[in-house]
Amino acid sequence: MALLVQKYGGTSVGNLERIQRVADLIVETRRAGHQVVVVLSAMSGETDRLWQLAHEITPYPDPRELDVLLSSGERVTIALLAMALRGRGVAARSFTGRQVGIVTDSTHTKARIAKVMTGPLQEALRKGVIPVVAGFQGINEQADVTTLGRGGSDLTAVALAAALKADRCVIFTDVDGVYTADPHIVPAARRIAKLSYEEMLELASLGAKVLQARSVEFAAKYGVPVQVRSSFCEGEGTLVTHEDAEMERALVSGVTGDRNQAKITVVGVPDRPGIAAKLFGAVADAAILVDMIIQNVSQEALTDISFTVPRNDLPRAMELVQQVAREIEAQAVEVKEDIAKVSLVGVGMRSHSGVASRMFQTLYQESINIMMISTSEIKISCVLEEKDLDQAIRALHKAFHLEENTSS
Ligand code: ADP
Ligand code: ASP
Ligand code: MG
Repeated sequence: MALLVQKYGGTSVGNLERIQRVADLIVETRRAGHQVVVVLSAMSGETDRLWQLAHEITPYPDPRELDVLLSSGERVTIALLAMALRGRGVAARSFTGRQVGIVTDSTHTKARIAKVMTGPLQEALRKGVIPVVAGFQGINEQADVTTLGRGGSDLTAVALAAALKADRCVIFTDVDGVYTADPHIVPAARRIAKLSYEEMLELASLGAKVLQARSVEFAAKYGVPVQVRSSFCEGEGTLVTHEDAEMERALVSGVTGDRNQAKITVVGVPDRPGIAAKLFGAVADAAILVDMIIQNVSQEALTDISFTVPRNDLPRAMELVQQVAREIEAQAVEVKEDIAKVSLVGVGMRSHSGVASRMFQTLYQESINIMMISTSEIKISCVLEEKDLDQAIRALHKAFHLEENTSS
């Protein structure tokens, strides 16, 4: 008998028929002799709809109230699934983040988990009751509701699996594993059977939303094996775990795109010590993740600084940057929203050169202009026009032969 945490994403609980199917899958897991803790997302599109409502009522919604609103989607699905299970004669009970005791810091809309209580869930398991937990939500020390960042139900599932010392965390979604590229963009993409935490973390951080990046970070830290599989069909999916000898060790394991990007340029910045610290300090204090940064060569003691931020954070970032720009007497602040980032990820890059030049050559052959470049040990990213993203992903997938199971 194993203890499994099963998480079902938005598409898997997108309507009543699908919720009934999820109930059947859970009953099957129980029949196979396993204990199960269920984590659910809101119905697909619901969190976006709530986000939209908040921003229609006011341009800068209060973060505390935003979390009260955003967390409501998951209350609907946990109640419905618990009803469906009880309708099958199976003991089940819904739990909000508060009822479980998922304690976070107070960074509303992207709170970090500080502590997970296991008592209430263990008590339910002991009594043979299936806990159905609302993903994506917690409470802070003041007992205010918080949310864990978009895609945060993955994090809830991994955190519960770690706290309960579950044998495995199974992420059920609408694709049957992690692929060499988003299979909705590249139909020839190939499923990867086993992937290291490190590579999955890069893929997720660079836009492969099949797993939330922070959930992968958490899984790596606590050594939780994560299986990604489909709730619509059978199959082993992808196992994300510690790097081992069975892994492919491909030069490039995957190509990924990220549309949630915007570029801010501060024009005519005085070129003197302390300016970057001031600018990026203000942005970091607001928990906004700055990704790529380019500072041009200074001319007549003035320089331009460009950097990218998540598009969702743009309004807040602009407010802060404009304030600092006034203080440092910069000439202007410009924004470009229709950009995207394409990235190649692979542990094999550590020991091979030439990936970057092949990437640039491929984009050049497609007449795609590169605006910014950044590299790390196991990834290369380029910022380009958003309209070019899908074409870039397909061309790179082909150029690196990712549809074939080879390591070159
Ligand atoms: P859920 O609602 O189940 O959490 P998500 O929409 O968050 O599902 O994540 C699943 C989606 O991730 C897939 O439908 C697919 O379009 C996308 N995706 C992006 N990159 C990849 C990849 N490399 N492999 C698999 N899916 C990917
Ligand atoms: N419902 C939340 C979102 O859409 C959390 C999740 O689905 O993982 O971001
Ligand atoms: Mg998701």
